[in-house]
Amino acid sequence: MQLRTFAIDMPTSFRGITRREGMLVEGPAGWAEFSPFLDYSPAECVPWLRAALDSAERAWPAPVRDRVPVNCTVPAVDPERAADVVRASGCGTAKVKVAERGQDLAADVARVEAVRDALGPSGRVRVDANGGWDVDTAVRAVTALDRAAGGLEYVEQPCASVEELAAVRRRVDVPVAADESIRRADDPYRVVALEAADVAVLKVQPLGGVHACLEIAERIGLPVVVSSAVDTSIGLAAGLAVAAALPELPHACGLATTSLLAGDVVAEPLRPVDGTLPVGRTEVDPVALAAVAADPATDARWHARLAAVQECMS
Ligand SMILES: [Mg+2]
Repeated sequence: MQLRTFAIDMPTSFRGITRREGMLVEGPAGWAEFSPFLDYSPAECVPWLRAALDSAERAWPAPVRDRVPVNCTVPAVDPERAADVVRASGCGTAKVKVAERGQDLAADVARVEAVRDALGPSGRVRVDANGGWDVDTAVRAVTALDRAAGGLEYVEQPCASVEELAAVRRRVDVPVAADESIRRADDPYRVVALEAADVAVLKVQPLGGVHACLEIAERIGLPVVVSSAVDTSIGLAAGLAVAAALPELPHACGLATTSLLAGDVVAEPLRPVDGTLPVGRTEVDPVALAAVAADPATDARWHARLAAVQECMS
């Protein structure tokens, strides 16, 4: 198998990182991405490697749609910039970051109001707190943000634990989506057992690949939103394969994330047109890859990392 290591700058920091690194592997079925975040242990990276091998070795399931609606993502910026992000995206759904450290609810309310204005009445507004609230704060904030949005599509991961999600869900009318509670949980099905969520956010790499993700979607029995882990257009295509194979797709997916990267590894990065992305395999372009190829030290570090993860798998 061919292995290539990339290192792509990020115009604005996300999750505290300013450079996205990973490996690309070409197998009999096509190209695949292995890009666990740098703070993940080898054991935590095992599903990420399984995901890459799955996409490199196995064909993806037949799609039931050829384009996937996607949301734009509005970081915790001021209202003017938030509106700009929405208008530039052309997407009908916006995910707004809220509960950012060092900001108050008034800032979240102003941002959500600006996003609604930019989207118009037919658009959908969802918020993502990344587990940043306790239960009482979440109930208060969700109520205020629901009003500011003129109706929220859902609130994603309002609190950190599954128990807290369940508590919030019982106290607000806005649907609750579980993200971290599925992706970094020992048991992704606890959200169902505790009736903690109305929507499941699934990511291909941390959940072990396209086929594993579809299995989880079936077993979890909730509407699914497929999201990226800030993948290149190689990893994003695997997310699109999951979204394309789901029998029902009532919500836009979080796969319009190439704008978070200053470069890509394909000739034409997956950017939304009319709020949708095309389904299908993507291929590494030698010229694009050369522009973001990792330096020898980074490349060596990734080969060592890969070996450590393979060790965990065997
Ligand atoms: Mg999230």
